[in-house]
Amino acid sequence: MGPPPFNFSKSVQENQAIQAAYRAKQFFESDATVQCNLIASGARAVILLVRDKQTKLLNRKYVMKKALVDDPGLFEWEVEALQELQNAPHVAKLASINGKPLLNPLAEAGLQGDHYFMQYYPRGSLAQFLDRTQHLERLPNRLLIAIFLCAAKACAAMAYPPGPERDRFGYLPFEKAYNDRDPSNLVHWALRGDHWLFGETDYRPEHALTPIMSLIGFGSSQVLESQNDEVDQNAVREYDVKQGLVRCHGRGLPNGRRNTATRSNVLGVGMMMATILNEDYEQPPELTRESLLYDVHKHYDKDLYRLVKECIAVSPPNRPTIQELIDKLYDWIWSKVAEAFGLYPHRDLPSSTPGRALVAQRMPTTICLRRYVGGVASHPIRAERLELMSPARRAERGASDGVLSSGSCSAIALATLARTPIPRITKMEYLDRRGISRYGITAQAKSDAIAIREKA
Ligand SMILES: [Zn+2]
Repeated sequence: MGPPPFNFSKSVQENQAIQAAYRAKQFFESDATVQCNLIASGARAVILLVRDKQTKLLNRKYVMKKALVDDPGLFEWEVEALQELQNAPHVAKLASINGKPLLNPLAEAGLQGDHYFMQYYPRGSLAQFLDRTQHLERLPNRLLIAIFLCAAKACAAMAYPPGPERDRFGYLPFEKAYNDRDPSNLVHWALRGDHWLFGETDYRPEHALTPIMSLIGFGSSQVLESQNDEVDQNAVREYDVKQGLVRCHGRGLPNGRRNTATRSNVLGVGMMMATILNEDYEQPPELTRESLLYDVHKHYDKDLYRLVKECIAVSPPNRPTIQELIDKLYDWIWSKVAEAFGLYPHRDLPSSTPGRALVAQRMPTTICLRRYVGGVASHPIRAERLELMSPARRAERGASDGVLSSGSCSAIALATLARTPIPRITKMEYLDRRGISRYGITAQAKSDAIAIREKA
C-alpha cells in the first residue's frame, strides 16, 4: 500500500499532515507490537501516540513529534533546549528510544532529525483543562496558585537549568533561583495554555493533589544576546503607574544586574494567568492589561490577583523576580486557608477544640488521593478511584448526606483531568493533616449518585 494520494478537498497543510503521519506509521510497520496513532496536528508537525499493543502501561507509551515536511534541522533547537532542561521537573521529558525494548529495532530504521520522542502526558494540557472546566463559574484559587507556582518553577528552570542530583526519595528537586549564579538568557516566548502538560502528583505539598505541570513548546524559544529592551513609557504611565507597580520589587541580582530573559518569562507566565482570570485565552497583551485595570475579578483572591498584575507590568524591573514569585506562591500553598477566601468563617472550629485535632488526625483526603491517585502511574487518573467516605465521616466533616467530600479543590482538577462529568460543584471547608482549615469542593452528581466514587 502506497502513501495516501493528495486530497484536493483538503488544504496543503492537512495533506502534509496525512503524509507525515503515514511516513511515521511506516517507520513502525516492521514491529507488529507497536501501534502508532495520530493524536494532533499543527502548523509544523504532527503528534503521534506510539505504544506497545501488549501492555497498557504508561511507561510503554511515547509521543512522537514528526515534522510535516522532512527537514533534518527543524527540531534541532527545540530538542537541544529540552535536553538542557531534562532535570527540571517542570519541563517535559524527552524519551530516548535507544535501549528501550519497545523501540529498539526501530531506532536504526530511518527518520533522521525530523522527529523526536517525548514522554506521554495522558492528562493533557492546561488549555484542554481550561476548556473542560469552562462550565464552572470560576476555578478555585488554590488550584490557580498551584498552577502559577508550577509556571514560576519552570521559569526558574529556564534561568538556572538544574543538575541531575536527586533528593533522598529519588525525586528531582524542584527548581529554584540562585542568587549567586548568572541566570541563562533563555526566553520561551510562548507560555500559552497548550504548552503546559499535566504530569504526576508526588509527595511534596504543592503536588500532593494537583499534578505537576510541565512545559513544552520550545520551538520559538531564544537565547537573548542583549539585555536592552525598549519600554514604551506611555504604556508604563498607563499601566504600571496606575497600578502602583513602580519600584515595588527587588532589583533582581544582588549587584544590580538585570536579566531581561527571566523578566520576559515572568511576563509570559503573568499573561497566561491573566488570560485564565479573564477567561479569554486569545487576548492580546494590551487588552489583558486594560482589563486588569478595573478590578472586575472580585471572586478571585486579591493577593493572587495582585501578583498576576505585577507579573504583567510593562517595565521589566516592575515585575517580580523569580525568587519573589516562588516564595510568595509557596507561602500561599501553606497559608491561604478557607478564611482567606471568605468561606465559612462561622463554621470554623477554634484550633483549641479537641474535635479539630481528631478530625485532623483522620484527615483522609490527601492520604486517599495519594493512595489512589498519586501512586498510580500506570494509567491516567480515574476519579472513580477516589475514596468514598462513610456517612459518619461525611457528617463529621459537616458535609450533607449524599455529597461526597472530595477534599481539596484540586479534586476538581483530578476529576476534570479524568474527564469525569461533575454536574454540580459545591464549595466546602476541610481540615488538612496539620489541622488547618482549607478550602475544598464537593462534587455531587444528579439524583444523589456520587460522581467521584471508588470502584468496588
Ligand atoms: Zn509544580
